[in-house]
Amino acid sequence: MLVVPELQLAPYAVSVSARGRKIPEPAPSGRSEFQRDRDRIIHSSAFRRLEYKTQVFVNHEGDLFRTRLTHSIEVAQIGRSIARRLGLNEDLVEAVSLAHDLGHTPFGHAGQEALNACMKDNGGFEHNLQSLRVVDVLEERYAAFDGLNLCFETREGILKHCSPEHAAQLGEVGARFLNNRRPSLEAQIANLADEIAYNNHDVDDGLRSGLVTLDQISSVRLFALHLDEVRAAYPDLAERRMVHETVRRMINTLVTDLIFQTEQNIQLHQPRSVEDVRSAPPLVAFSNEMRELNRELKAFLRTHLYRHYRVMRMSAKSQRIISDLFKAFVDDSRLLPPQFMPQEANVSRLVADYIAGMTDRYAIREYRRLFAVEEE
Ligand code: MG
Repeated sequence: MLVVPELQLAPYAVSVSARGRKIPEPAPSGRSEFQRDRDRIIHSSAFRRLEYKTQVFVNHEGDLFRTRLTHSIEVAQIGRSIARRLGLNEDLVEAVSLAHDLGHTPFGHAGQEALNACMKDNGGFEHNLQSLRVVDVLEERYAAFDGLNLCFETREGILKHCSPEHAAQLGEVGARFLNNRRPSLEAQIANLADEIAYNNHDVDDGLRSGLVTLDQISSVRLFALHLDEVRAAYPDLAERRMVHETVRRMINTLVTDLIFQTEQNIQLHQPRSVEDVRSAPPLVAFSNEMRELNRELKAFLRTHLYRHYRVMRMSAKSQRIISDLFKAFVDDSRLLPPQFMPQEANVSRLVADYIAGMTDRYAIREYRRLFAVEEE
């Protein structure tokens, strides 16, 4: 049997799964428990669907924009770099990062808002909770259990935020939201790696799409600072390359700051175990200065990209697709494909699961199949 070498990890890293899997399984051979989790996530259907789900731009708008899949891979890359430097468990960070968006609806946040509105009398819809539901319940791949039967630590990382009402229904994975406790440092890293990834790739995609101009974004200090450096060092660089060089420097600055500040916080609080991490304040953090620069960047993106009229038009269209699909299926469940025919009383939840699992283009096709009068 292959022997997995012991990882050289900090004492406050998650080295093994202390709380294991809901359904006990024999230990994997030749890989760690968290590598197995990562592998199960990569082989899931929900993971493959991420390729055709909107991050900001709907998939058919262009081939080079980020999708949920490339976004998740970027999160994993950033997360792993940070984890390695801090002596934390890279495999766990990777597993959480790759799974963190599995519950997203088609059409990004517009889709989530529409589905949440549809579900308001039935417990609502929240993509983060849905990610957990995908790995706990919805994936149907294994003979012995529903879902992926992931380790507790991976599941707690996926559940980034949660209302007290939902937390109370989620057992041990929801308990920290009621007891004011933190997740592992690995989960905290995946969370901030998500933020670093989307802020930076949205700058890149925003500029590529032409919805944001170089002139506009030069009002953002974090961007301007690095753009000036690049211009000074390479005055003749073509614009696209200049943007890439600027964005890569921004990512590097954010990652470096995060590592430095987290090291300081670890020094200050001296955690000696994962349990110490759980009772400490959040230790993975940016410096105050970088948090402010980051906040400015986020505010810019909100105003100039996420609320750009062309993005808003696509959002309005997507919300209509989601709401109309939901209403049609709930009003007449005979329209659902046979494998989704209701076997339980809660038809709304079933329909929400069906819609949330759709890719952008599948949702558009379903919409056409239900509502288009002309023949396809
Ligand atoms: Mg994300």
